Amino acid sequence: MTQDLDSLYQEIILDHYKHPHGRGLRDAEDPADRVAEAHHVNPTCGDEVTVRVATDGTVLHDISYDGMGCSISQASASMMSDLVEGKTVSEIRGLTDEFQHMMKEPDVPAPESLGDLEALQGVVKFPVRIKCATLPWNTLTNALDEVEAKAS
Ligand code: ZN
Repeated sequence: MTQDLDSLYQEIILDHYKHPHGRGLRDAEDPADRVAEAHHVNPTCGDEVTVRVATDGTVLHDISYDGMGCSISQASASMMSDLVEGKTVSEIRGLTDEFQHMMKEPDVPAPESLGDLEALQGVVKFPVRIKCATLPWNTLTNALDEVEAKAS
């Protein structure tokens, strides 16, 4: 990775950290939607993320989140919520797998489907920070599991 690309990625991360997109938990607009919430903590860094999802059983109508912690965890949450809103639950599970894979494989190019989240791949060099990047995604997976459990 060139120095220039590194600093571009830093900028993307800091921008999401300073200006998080859509942070703050909110109620589902459609009262017919199923809603679930999950809260995860990363004790090694002190990060916390809460993710709330609203689905009709297929499509994620709304995702909102709240959190505190380091720039990596909060930028990851902001980029994640941008990326998954309006997608189907199964698409989101696919993206989650791609993200988790990217965070394990520093030499594999980040898939285009992940957009800005590519910026987080640099974190792979710092194993202790990987948990910061994956925290919002693990929280989202948990919330989706909850919402699907409500369907049955
Ligand atoms: Zn962290």
